[in-house]
Amino acid sequence: MRLVLLGPPGAGKGTQATRIAKRFAVPQLSTGDMLREAVASGSVLGAHVKDIMERGDLVPDDVVIAVVADRMDHLDAANGFVLDGFPRTVAQAEALDRELAARGIGLDAVLELEVDEDVLLVRIKGRAEEAGKKGQPVRRDDNPEVFKARLKAYRAQTAPVTEYYRSQGLLHIVDGLQPIDLVTEELAEVLSAFA
Ligand code: AMP
Repeated sequence: MRLVLLGPPGAGKGTQATRIAKRFAVPQLSTGDMLREAVASGSVLGAHVKDIMERGDLVPDDVVIAVVADRMDHLDAANGFVLDGFPRTVAQAEALDRELAARGIGLDAVLELEVDEDVLLVRIKGRAEEAGKKGQPVRRDDNPEVFKARLKAYRAQTAPVTEYYRSQGLLHIVDGLQPIDLVTEELAEVLSAFA
C-alpha cells in the first residue's frame, strides 16, 4: 500500500498517518520528522534547513526529494509506505512520480484531510499548550506567527498538489474536522478497496 496523506498544517496528518501506517503495517515517512531529526543531530542537512523551518517556509524541493528518495529504498518500505508532509509542491509530486516509476511502482491512493482554516489556528495553539503541559518539547514552528507563514506556504505551494492528484484520479477527500477516531475509520474505509 503506497499512500500520500495531504492536508494543511494542523489538520491531523501526523496523527492519522501514524494510525494508518500501523493498521496497514507500513512505515510512516514524515518529511517533517526526518528534517527535525536532521536539525537535532546537527548534520549538514540539518544546518541547511534549520532557519527555513523555523520561519515556516518550505525547504527547497531538491533537498526534500533526495531525503524521500533515499528513505523509500530502506528495506522496511519495500511493501509500501504512508507519505506524510510530502509532496508539498507540484514539482515534488512530479519528482515522486519519476522516483516511483524508476522503481516500477506507483501510488495506490492520495488521501486529503479537509479542514476549515479558522479551526486550524485554534488547533495549533492547543497542540503547543498540550505539549507544554505534558512537559514535551513544543515545536518551534507551532506558534501563531510561524503557523500563519506555514498556512501561507500551504495555500500558495501545496494546494495545487490536490489538483495534480485529482487529475490522476487518485484523490480521496475526508472531512478532517470529525472526531479523530471517525477520521481514521473513514480513511481506513477508503483504503479497504486497496488492501
Ligand atoms: P511538518 O512537520 O510536515 O509540518 O513540516 C515541518 C516543516 O518542515 C515545514 O514547515 C517545512 O519547513 C519543512 N518540510 C516538511 N516537509 C516538507 C516538504 N515536503 N517540502 C518542503 N519543506 C518541508
